[in-house]
Amino acid sequence: MLRKTVIPNKPRFSLVRQRAYDLLANLDICKFPVDPREIIRCFPEWHLVGWFELHVNTGVDDPLYLDRDKAEAKTVIQRGTNDYLIVYDERVDNPQRIRWTLAHEIGHIVMGHLTEFDATALNRRGLTEKEHSVLEVEAHCFAAELLAPKTIISRFDFHNSPQGISLICDISKDAAEKRLKQIKQADYGYYPSEVKILRNFYKHLAFGEFYQVVHNTACRFFPSSIYPELCKECRICKNCNSFITDDTYRYCPVCGSEVPEPYMYSPYKHHKGMFVISNISDIHSELYMQGKQYYEIPIKDDKLLYCPVCKNYGFSNLSGKCTKCGAPTTNHCTAENRILPGNCRFCPYCGSEATFKKIYDILPERLSVNNVKIPDVYDDYIECEYWPFVVMTVGMWEKAMDLYVALEDSIAIYDGDDMIIFVRGSNEQVVATREANTILACLSNNGLLPIKQITVMIAEPIMA
Ligand SMILES: [Zn+2]
Ligand SMILES: [Zn+2]
Ligand SMILES: [Zn+2]
Repeated sequence: MLRKTVIPNKPRFSLVRQRAYDLLANLDICKFPVDPREIIRCFPEWHLVGWFELHVNTGVDDPLYLDRDKAEAKTVIQRGTNDYLIVYDERVDNPQRIRWTLAHEIGHIVMGHLTEFDATALNRRGLTEKEHSVLEVEAHCFAAELLAPKTIISRFDFHNSPQGISLICDISKDAAEKRLKQIKQADYGYYPSEVKILRNFYKHLAFGEFYQVVHNTACRFFPSSIYPELCKECRICKNCNSFITDDTYRYCPVCGSEVPEPYMYSPYKHHKGMFVISNISDIHSELYMQGKQYYEIPIKDDKLLYCPVCKNYGFSNLSGKCTKCGAPTTNHCTAENRILPGNCRFCPYCGSEATFKKIYDILPERLSVNNVKIPDVYDDYIECEYWPFVVMTVGMWEKAMDLYVALEDSIAIYDGDDMIIFVRGSNEQVVATREANTILACLSNNGLLPIKQITVMIAEPIMA
């Protein structure tokens, strides 16, 4: 039989990334950790089974010769079908390692290793060492792109820490370190599915949900000796549930209460007593903390990006006060004059009030579909779940600051082909109505439904 295609003599890095991104985009994966098992379940013709399970059920000594070949997984295609059988060694006592192995096997399938080259479809043992290593490198890189996609990892703030990447992607620290190095070097250009991936992951990353993932992954290691190192990436305040993502903080930046240092910190909701776990899936909801991301006043170069009180922006004055409303433009500790991040209501080092606390105290609750009165005519509305991403692109990509500031506290719903945007006040309404074309352009740039008409309304809050 003739080979359909010759195995390439170099790994196709760019194609690997493209296929991984396409898979993430097509399956609408929108949060970490990416779960290879869930991906496999999306394809009815992919079958996943454990080596031991197969061994017990079929009586075969060494299914697919995993033991003989010292392999942790293998994938075969059933001759004459499109069915793949992935056999993995479930005796491996390391969930992160198994996740990586499964992602690697998905790579072999998605890269066409079992179908595009006859040599592989027949018998992989017939490959030359070089051919074999090209395919292995491709599958390995695919696993990296799938579990820790560069386009997400490089754009958001993970403190540049391998430990943080390891926890959020649920991969080993070793793999995370290698991944960080790769991300800093290679760039293979732009991929069409990138925008969709960014859009899908945006909420997860911008609203702090990923800190919960970091916390949950770390919890698996409690109370082992490495836990204190892991919880440096994210503790949760037991008073207000805010995520505390700086290991040097001694006080909660949101409520000012004292937070135990990492070596003293336990992830349990309650400290004392014994726990009876009736259902393993209840562990997180019953025992461990659920964090909360509080609104964060945006700053740039230690100054307000825009004034959240009066929407004034572009601060250059030296008075330290908003020229319109007098709100403080820098956040610092009122006791020590230390400059603080924008999310601090209290100084995380001494517990004193921060200057921004005054602003936080008067800001109304952020608009959401739960606290805005939606008129009855829009009965069948659908919330635009990508709206925060669209607003981000207005400001950061289009650099339309007027519009960005007008939309920064807004919600958007679809009503058929129309979009209704609820904004805070009449100034915002004027700006957003005037710039409707920019909004339409941003919506279509990000692959959102073709919208015919935009209506901007002033939000009428529902009082609690
Ligand atoms: Zn707190
Ligand atoms: Zn102001
Ligand atoms: Zn202080």
